[in-house]
Order: sequence, then structure tokens, then C-alpha cells
Amino acid sequence: MENGESKRMWLQKARKLLKSGQVDGFWRSFEQVANSPEYEKWLEDEFPERSSLFELDRRNFMKFMGAATLMASLAGCRRLPKEQIVPFVKQPEDSVPGVRKRYATSFVSQGAAMGLVVESREGRPIKVEGNPEHSGSLGSSDVFCQASLYDLYDPDRLKAVQRGRSTASWDQFWKEARAQLQVAKEKNGQGVVLLTESVVSPSYHAQIQKFLQAFPEAKWVAYDPLAPMNVLYGNDLLFDRKLNAVYDFRGADVILSVDSDFLYLGPGAVRYAREFSSRRAPQGTDASKLNRMFAIQCAPSVTSAAADEVLALKPTLVEPFLRALAVRLGIPVAPGDTPPKSGEWIEKLAAQLQATRGRCVVVPGLHHRPMVHALAQAINVHLGNVGATVRYTQPLDFAEDASADGVSGLQRAARQNPIDAVFILGGNPAYTLPGASSLVRLLEAAPFTAHLTSHANETSELCRWELPLSHYLESWGDGLGYDGSTVLQQPLIAPLYHSFSEIEFIEGLLGSHRTAREVVKEVHGFAGVQGEDRFQAMLEKGVLPGSEFGSEQVRPNFEALELPPALPSGFELIVLPDPTVLDGRFANNPWLQELPKPMSSLTWDNAVYVGPAMAERIGAGTEDKVSISVQNRKEEAALFVMPGIPDETVVVHMGYGRKAGGMWVTSDGPRGFNAFLLMNPASPGVGTRVAVVKLEGKVPLASVQVHHSMEGKDIIRSGTVAEFQAKPSLAPEYVHEGHFDSLYPEGEFEHDGHKWAMSIDLSLCIGCNACTIACQAENNIPSVGKTQVQRGREMHWIRVDRYYKGSPDAPEQTLFQPLPCMHCENAPCEPVCPVAATTHSKEGLNQMVYNRCVGTRYCSNNCPYKVRRFNYLNFADKTTDKLGRDAPTLRLLNNPDVTVRGRGVMEKCTFCVQRINSARIESKRTGAPLKDGDIVTACQQACPTQAIVFGDLSDPASRVTKLRSDPRSYGLLADLNTRPRTTYLAKVTNPSNTLSERGAS
Ligand code: SF4
Repeated sequence: MENGESKRMWLQKARKLLKSGQVDGFWRSFEQVANSPEYEKWLEDEFPERSSLFELDRRNFMKFMGAATLMASLAGCRRLPKEQIVPFVKQPEDSVPGVRKRYATSFVSQGAAMGLVVESREGRPIKVEGNPEHSGSLGSSDVFCQASLYDLYDPDRLKAVQRGRSTASWDQFWKEARAQLQVAKEKNGQGVVLLTESVVSPSYHAQIQKFLQAFPEAKWVAYDPLAPMNVLYGNDLLFDRKLNAVYDFRGADVILSVDSDFLYLGPGAVRYAREFSSRRAPQGTDASKLNRMFAIQCAPSVTSAAADEVLALKPTLVEPFLRALAVRLGIPVAPGDTPPKSGEWIEKLAAQLQATRGRCVVVPGLHHRPMVHALAQAINVHLGNVGATVRYTQPLDFAEDASADGVSGLQRAARQNPIDAVFILGGNPAYTLPGASSLVRLLEAAPFTAHLTSHANETSELCRWELPLSHYLESWGDGLGYDGSTVLQQPLIAPLYHSFSEIEFIEGLLGSHRTAREVVKEVHGFAGVQGEDRFQAMLEKGVLPGSEFGSEQVRPNFEALELPPALPSGFELIVLPDPTVLDGRFANNPWLQELPKPMSSLTWDNAVYVGPAMAERIGAGTEDKVSISVQNRKEEAALFVMPGIPDETVVVHMGYGRKAGGMWVTSDGPRGFNAFLLMNPASPGVGTRVAVVKLEGKVPLASVQVHHSMEGKDIIRSGTVAEFQAKPSLAPEYVHEGHFDSLYPEGEFEHDGHKWAMSIDLSLCIGCNACTIACQAENNIPSVGKTQVQRGREMHWIRVDRYYKGSPDAPEQTLFQPLPCMHCENAPCEPVCPVAATTHSKEGLNQMVYNRCVGTRYCSNNCPYKVRRFNYLNFADKTTDKLGRDAPTLRLLNNPDVTVRGRGVMEKCTFCVQRINSARIESKRTGAPLKDGDIVTACQQACPTQAIVFGDLSDPASRVTKLRSDPRSYGLLADLNTRPRTTYLAKVTNPSNTLSERGAS
């Protein structure tokens, strides 16, 4: 690969070309624009990095080849080891082998619970989906829910109680802990601390309260770096009460996102993505109902990429911008200085918001200071949006304050009254707490410390006791959804190890013997035998009906929005949860580590992200090693140049630079840097006085930005509403839509019965990657590790490509295109296979016969879409983990309906043929013919925006048939006459200069 020097050179060349307007249309990377040798390499050769498996000299190569030939000749007569299988002698009454069962449950992530339906096969959970009954999910999910399944079977989970560095038992722990609490009882619990994450579970909260009743002087402190604290603080400023904000985008004609990533991160993201996308696609040729989103962008995000107009601003200019907008709208707040170059935007926005009073909404980013939230909500109140597009409810978090303040208070209190016992339930505060050294001292000083945790980590290593925590699929519980709705959590499997949930743990500390199920039943009023039937009925749905929080009446106090002191100028920092590993809680999850981050396509690492202008200032390019310092805090990291980041702004993500937590965290070299060390506890999301300095050397990253690049025109179709109205197909002028000559027999593709096809709407796709990881979970797709990704060997069957249009400093458009196999009717991969391992089914599926594949990879070479994936190594081997240890639990992760592919085999998207077959069997069994919607592919099911539609083209009434005749429908690289069965709908954007001016008229 190229060194940092030449990367910088290509960046400069690309910037120049883009600025001069010599690049027309969409571009994917700086390397592509500058036509760098690196890009050429990836374009011409799918796997340019074939330095290969081993570094061999000629002599060793000959030896290796000799051995390989011998082994190949033996492979034909391979003898499998003798293994005994045991028949199902006593079949449980309610279990039919081979038939999936579905159970409703829930998962708490990012400050709210999400209702899920989890599929179980022969007693083991194998796939997570959203619960259609839950308002927070509506049947869709996100990357974190999908990948949470891996954590259940993760061989690195803490499996046994550890005392010091030795294995102990729960009995020993209970004995010591209860003795400690017995002593504390005499002081009413003084000196005892419960340290938790955010608590959004009513039953968990009830348990904490029970503990505090038993030990009234004990302290409960919550700390959670993902808790949306600025929302509560901001509303407290404006309304004098800590309140949660719940949005409704269905009725919003105009949306202003203030550096918010509400479509991807935070409570309600899946629901918000559905609501937002319900107004993003024209209905046929009617574009009158489209919403319009403006985005202030400090850090490019999934949400700002979906916006129609974007204004890049430094983080500390966001508040002055909102203040100037509020003043312009007539809100009596203290005026500040209007940020440079934003006057026109403020005028435009004010006009748009005024014209859509009660039909617009302002959404502030969770990482921004409370004042930004207060100003945003003040605008919402002033414009009459409350009750229409936004409402306020009591907080979801029972702790009401999960900021670092609680732990700081603890440290102060410890100076007066020493702390005797600390029970840490979940989380990893010794890593995630900014300025964690005082917590470390506190833990070292306390005589009794215990950490209930899923993995041994930085915090548990400081505690005397490390205690295994149950996974959510192993335990009873409940949680509050983004709107306060209660979802129940039922286990699908008995704990794999001797572990306890938080509810059970507190019960154990109190020495009582209720089960977690009994606790949950009691808390929700289903106690005893009488409540059992009603409880069962609730469990079937998973949601307590009518349980969402009511709206709170609010009275804004605009006078509270005083002008804050001026902040220093210079470079500024934004610290965000990582888009795949969040605060590091998913750091040992290879599915998420290998999932390309939506805006950078980076895998396995974090980086210091800057825009092209700032990169030039510091004289560094992507992969150059830099030092970043914020006031007196300093880290070293790789630089990554990302279009759209404002000048003088640096973006970093949490979750990396960890020292413990599992094999994926600590093996394979260092994994990024620790952004928590750069945070200021008083303002964790935004930092000032930042310096970035280029150092010698570089840090190799595994970005898939230029992997699987396609050659050809008309890859992306996009246009504004005005362009769409003038030409609904949005096809470029050069597109030839006539007849193509073919070597294949002409005419309709011969089919028998169904004609399976897929349509993907680019107007709806937000690039969240839920489809990619859902496909991975469904189809047993392996992770390959950072080194293999650097060689282009990632295995995802559906990738999401990202394109830009316009200048690299402030792209006018960012667009995503999911790419599964196109299932071409004239499939270029098929005629080149020497052993006919890839063939066509009568229903139009382009199939792979794994047993026949000999690994020549001609098919992949001949695929213009680059959607075929080759198993260079035995990636799918789950008998041992990455470190060669026996890992029996990993085998439980596989979907038994899908073949596990071995080394040397080509694979690719099958349109989830196992789901097609299972629906076919069900239809045969019941006698009811297959109807549209009976078959839902894994990617389609997970997609929160419903951008993907699968169905039967032979059914004229099916959705996919109708979408094929939509004027926006087009086939990718259709001029190659491949006749793809997967087609796209062009993206329509709605910027204000093409305004149909609904509100204004
Ligand atoms: S198609 Fe994939 S990337 Fe696009 S919105 Fe749906 S799930 Fe997200």
C-alpha cells in the first residue's frame, strides 16, 4: 500500500480536481478521484494484497508446494474422524427438531430498551429481530441488537467467579459479601456503594430500592458514558425539570438536526429512522409529501448524510448559531455573535421553520452541551411543535444522573467516611470514566470490591471479586423503551455458565430467594398464581400495552438561557460513541469490529478524524501517526481524512485503546487509542484547546473504502425534486435504455413458477449497515480479522458503498448504496466457472454449489459488481477460537439452515434461500399458497427504513413488481446486459432551492 506521503499527495490532487469542478457526479474516495495507483490496484484486482498466507523464499515455496500437492492428492480420500451421534430418545413435547420457535424479549442499549423477537432452534437462540409489537422497533433492529447474539456465545465471557487471580465459587462470594453487609448493617449501610450503569429497568430499579431500604445509608451511584445526560440537563435549564424528549417525525415537514445522529444512535433511533423514511420517497411521480432535513454538521454522521442541506460548523459555533436562529425567530434570549458565514442559513432556516409551525422539529445532538439542548427545545416550544412533533416525558433513567459527577461525589465523600464495600454492576468505569485514576484509587483503598461483569475487563481487574454476569438472553428482566413503554425480557436459554443477572445479584446480596421471574411479575402487578395467566399473555407479545409515558406539561423559562462565557478559539474536539463498538462494550464482538463504520468504512480501529483542509494544515494524511492533546491530556493515534469535517475540528470515537476485555480486544496488536483519556468530565462531548501534531511513522488501518470498487457509469442515480419532476427516471443523458445484443438466447428468462427479485430504494437507505450484520448473523458469515481485511478478504455478502458529490471539504451529498448479489439473469459469473459450481435456478436465483467449487475464482473476476467472497482460509472454523483454544459455544452460534463454508470455497448472497424454502415448506404444509410478504430476507427484516423489498416478479400485485415499474427503478450497470434481478430506485433529495413550498404556500 501507499505510504502516508503519497496518500497526502493524492488527497491534495483530489481536492484540487474536485474544487476545479473537473469531477462530475459521484465519487467514492480521494484515491478514486485522483486515480491513484492504490485505487487502480483495487479496481483491476479484487485482491491486490496477495503477499499471501506465508512469507516464503523460493526454497521454502518449493517445499510448501510439494507438500501441498501431496496433501491435495490425499484430500480426495479424506477420512473423517469417527464421531458418535445420539438419537433424540425422549423428545420434549413442545420441541420439533428443525422448527424455529420465536420468543419476545428485550435488550437495553444506549439508554433505552428495544423489544425483540428472538428465534431459537433446538433450544439455542440463533437470530435476533425487532418486535413488531414494540413502538421502539416496529419489527426492525439495528447493528447492536443483531450483533448482541455473538456476545451470548463469546468464548471470552467470564465463566467462573474469580477471587484475586484464582477461581472461587459463588458460595464463597455470598459468604464473604453477606458477612461484609452484616457489619455494614450496624452502620445502616454506611460505607457501602452500588455502582451501576443507567437503569432503565423497573425491576432492577425496584431491587436497588429494596437494597437501599435494607441499607439506608448505602450509596447508589450510576455512571454511563452513553446516557443522554445533556437532554435532561438541557430540559432542566429550560423547563426547570429533568425531562426526556420524544420526537415524532411523521408529522415533520421540516427537520433541523443540530449535529444529531438521531437516525443511528441514541434512544429511539430505529423508530426515528422508520418515521423519517416514511416521508423520504416519492410515491410514483408524486413528491409532494417529502420532508426536508437541514443538518448542522460538526461530525459527519448517518443523519447528516441523509439531510438535504448541510452546514459544517465547528462545535463551539453550534450554540451561537442556535442562539442567533432563536433571536431571528423572535425568542427572547440573549443574543450572541452570529457565526461567520451562517447568516444566509439562519435566514433560510427561519423562513422554513416559521412557514411550518407545528410541522417542524429541531433535534440537538446528544453530545452537545445542555445549553444547545435548551435552545433547541426553546425553538420547538416557540414554534408550537410541542405535542405535534416533540413531547416531553419523565426520564427513562431511574438514576436521573449517570454523569461522571456521581463518581466524583463519591470520591469526595470517601474523604470523610471511608468506603468499605463497592459492588459494581455491569459497565467498565475504570476504562470509560474520564479521569478514572481517582476511581482506581478508591477501588484500591476499599477493603471489599466486586464487579459483576460479562467479561474480565479494566475494572474487574481492580476488584477483589470478578463475578460472571448473565447475558440478556439468559435472564428475566424488563426495560423502558424510548417512549417509556415497558418491554419484558425473557430468557431463551439457561445460563451457559454459573452467572447471575443484576436483579438476581441484588436478591442474592439481600439473602432472599425470589427468582428474577418472580421479581418481574411482582413489579408489574402479576404476582402469585392469579397473575400467571395475564403474565403469560404479556410475555407472548413482550410489551405491556398502554405503558408508554404520558406527556408532561412544560413552561419554558427563556431567561435561563443566559449568554455563557466566550470559549477559546483554536482546534476543537468532538468525542462520540464509536459507530460499531459504542463505548467499548462491543469491543470483543468481531461482527461489530469488522463492520465498516458508516462514514469512514474503517474496521477494527478508531482514528483521529479531520477534514481535508485540516489535514493540509497539519501536513498529514490518512494512516500518518499523530499526537492529539487536549489541554494536558495526550494520546497517539492514526489520522483519517474524512470529507465534510469542518476546518479546525477533530472527531474521535470512544471504545478503543483497551487493555483487557477478550481476545479481540488485546490480540492482533494494539487496537486504536483511548478517547476517554482526552475527555473533560465537565464537558465530555466537546473539547477545546486541542492540538494535533504529525509524528514520524504511520499506523496501518483496515479501511474498506476502496475495496470492491466497480467500474462503469450510472452506478448512482440521484436528483433533486425539481430534477425528478422534470425527468422521473433521473437517468443521466448518456444512458442507453434500448435493446442489448446478447450471446444468450434472447427473450424472457425461462422460469418456473416464482421469479425472485429485490428492489432497494436509495431514497430510503440511510447507510446504517443493519442489513450487513443481519445477513452475517443469518448466513453464518465469518469474521476474518484486521490483517485479512487489509488484504480485501472481508466476507460480507451485502456491503454498503458510500459515495460523495461535490467538494471534499463540504460535500453537497453523501449517499449509500447497499450491494448484495444482483442475481443477474445473464450472470457473467456462470459461464466462466470451469466446474459449473455457480448456476441458475429456475426461479432466477444465482446459486453456488459449494461442494463443486474448486476455487478458481473466475466467477469473482467476471462479476462486475464485486459481490462474491472467497474463503482464503478456514474462516468459518468455530471449533477453536482465534487463540487456538477450544471454543464449543461458538458452534452454537451457527444457523443450522445454512451451510458453513470451508476454505477454498466461493460464496455470496443467496436471497436467503433457506427462508424461501422454509416458507415453501410451510405453504405446502398448510395448503395456503405463498403470498407477497411471506418471504422476508434477513437484510429486509432488519432494515429500519424498509429500503429493501423482496418478492416474486411473477406476481403482478407484489410490491417488488410494482417497484420495478416505478419511474425511479434502474438496474446497476445494466448496460452490460446482465439483467440484474436486484434493482435500485433512484434517490430524490429535497433541498430548499427546489422547494414546492408546502408550508409557505
Ligand atoms: S438498506 Fe441496509 S444500510 Fe440501508 S437503511 Fe436499510 S439496513 Fe440500513
